Amino acid sequence: GCSYPVEGFWKHSYPISVNTATSLSHSTPINAVLLKEALESKESDLVFPSEDFSSQALVPSRQKYLETYKKSIEDPAGFWSSIASQFYWKEKWGKQVFSENIDVSKGDVKIEWFKGGITNICYNCLDRNVEAGNGGKIAICWEGNEPNIDGSLTYSELLQKVCQLANYLKDAGVKKGDAVVIYLPMLMELPIAMLACARIGAIHSVVFAGFSADSLVQRIMDCKPKVVITCNAVKRGPKVLHLKDIVDAAISQSAKNGISIDVCLTYENQSAMTRGDTKWHQGRDIWWQDVVPKYPMTCEVEWVDAEDPLFFLYTSGSTGKPKGVLHTTGGYMVYTATTFKHAFDYKPSDVYWCTADCGWITGHSYITYGPMLNGATVVVFEGVPTYPDAGRCWDIVDKYKVTLFYTAPTLIRSLMRVGDEYVTRYSRKSLRVLGSVGEPINPSAWRWFFNVVGDSRCPISDTWWQTETGGFMITPLPGGWPQKPGSATFPFFGVQPAIVDEKGAELQGECSGYLCFKHSWPGVFRTLYGDHERYETTYFKPFPGYYFSGDGCRRDKDGYYWLTGRVDDVINVSGHRIGTAEVESALISHSQCSEAAVVGVEHEVKGQGIYAFVTLADGVPYSEELRKSLILTVRKQIGAFAAPDKIHWAPGLPKTRSGKIMRRVLRKIASRQLDELGDTSSLADPSVIDQLIALTDS
Ligand code: ATP
Ligand code: MG
Repeated sequence: GCSYPVEGFWKHSYPISVNTATSLSHSTPINAVLLKEALESKESDLVFPSEDFSSQALVPSRQKYLETYKKSIEDPAGFWSSIASQFYWKEKWGKQVFSENIDVSKGDVKIEWFKGGITNICYNCLDRNVEAGNGGKIAICWEGNEPNIDGSLTYSELLQKVCQLANYLKDAGVKKGDAVVIYLPMLMELPIAMLACARIGAIHSVVFAGFSADSLVQRIMDCKPKVVITCNAVKRGPKVLHLKDIVDAAISQSAKNGISIDVCLTYENQSAMTRGDTKWHQGRDIWWQDVVPKYPMTCEVEWVDAEDPLFFLYTSGSTGKPKGVLHTTGGYMVYTATTFKHAFDYKPSDVYWCTADCGWITGHSYITYGPMLNGATVVVFEGVPTYPDAGRCWDIVDKYKVTLFYTAPTLIRSLMRVGDEYVTRYSRKSLRVLGSVGEPINPSAWRWFFNVVGDSRCPISDTWWQTETGGFMITPLPGGWPQKPGSATFPFFGVQPAIVDEKGAELQGECSGYLCFKHSWPGVFRTLYGDHERYETTYFKPFPGYYFSGDGCRRDKDGYYWLTGRVDDVINVSGHRIGTAEVESALISHSQCSEAAVVGVEHEVKGQGIYAFVTLADGVPYSEELRKSLILTVRKQIGAFAAPDKIHWAPGLPKTRSGKIMRRVLRKIASRQLDELGDTSSLADPSVIDQLIALTDS
């Protein structure tokens, strides 16, 4: 049987009402805070939702969660099919709601949900909402790179734009099952392009418009599209990026490899660059504005099977070569919609803003599909959160009265570093729920987000999930239970985590080990495109019978889940297994440290030693005293065994283009294997590496 993760916990912990979170802030002088953080175990820091919040929440209590969770596990078919019935299906799925084999010892891994069900996700995002009378509701509020440039589309207008593009694509020869590569910045045309592909049953492959020509070539070669959709240029902050030049280079490189692109549909992004300045390939390149608006504003839907592919998307490349994940239609639709609704406690009056780019899974599931399936108003932001200054996010929050704000720890830490004034000068009264994704959020960053950004009023949804999982797996449901800063709390409905040891034996109760999942869930990916074997080897073979996430995880005595980083990153110091995330959290809790990345290096005595790259807060100079104080912080919070052997000052850290620290590169720098840095094509700023190497022996 299954174990219900929180049962024991509620009995003893609910009556306690300490809320240490509100009394701690990163700007408090260092020693008092550190001592306090060190003395109080992080597990007793419960942050309770207010009664006002809980009483209106979708999942208002622990009992409600437990009841629903129990149902979802005991009868997944019944649970998910009753949710799926709220969507439009041209034909209902077959007798079997789902079928799965995730056990490699029993044959090929195969997962199907709602097979035989005929539907269309674009229809469910747009037509269904318009037909329900919400055509006049704003679907997208678009905020340009410059604060005075913006726009919006209602659900009816969005549907019309999507239909025009869908009609154009059909005319250009794109058929059901064909791939379309989309290389666009965060213009409204990006979700429009995704939805237009979905409408005609084409498979989109969105490539983050910051990737180099080489990365784009690789993705073009993988899916062999007929059409590439792009724009001439984009302004990100003060910089103009010539996207079309990158696409041109990628298309000619692909042609040399035998893949030719018939059409490059190019949106003229006037605020960044005019037509006259754009290089042009007559016959292949077409201006979006010249052709698309001429097409009819209605377009028949291509009905597809629930298991027909919806999109390809590559993982961030934090751990190696990016993996081409394939998601299908029906299960993904049901799962993204349901997780969005619950993890943000969505209400029709909400205004939702996610700072991710549609080039990542977060932008697929939680900018385009999840929110629009719920008929939500979504802010789409073209620019960068620090332009014109570090207050831009809160300016946007006030401008659109954003209620649900979803971002990444990397942004939270960088805003924390520049000071509270940028936040407090804005009202932020509209905010209701905050969200975080991408990396473990350190308790000190969590508290700053909670106290300063959310005025100690908004629950934080720290959502743990992956490109592969399609949607949230471990996440708070705001209002449903007290939070612990830094813990993603409990599994979503239908999700059965298992923490296993090296041998694959499931651990019970309080434990730490490898995070796996039993059984499939509707949103899980179905294969790595063109490489089903790698799919099985990476995810299902390490622990037969389970989906293996690659992440380490700890479950505390109250049943809360704490993600401790990737298992490849676990450091073994004299027999102690230490998660990089835990050491990093301790370092970052130091008021003068803004970011930290920890890796293991060979150590004669201890087996492995701890090597910490540390970025300091703005204006703080390096000093021997500070080095000692950082090490002391870790000793106090975790223990002497976790104290870093080496502190490497880092003006910046190598990050993927989605903002994650690339520890595998740092491991090579730490062990001085400088000629073995590996695939760095998804790094945002490769020059960081030279800076780090230059500071190697400082
Ligand atoms: P690659 O698989 O190519 O190495 P990646 O794992 O960074 O790249 P994503 O699918 O974008 O690619 O990221 C998923 C990973 O991000 C998770 O496995 C986890 O390590 C981390 N992650 C995401 N959200 C959270 C979170 N809330 N808490 C902790 N870690 C998180
Ligand atoms: Mg991954």
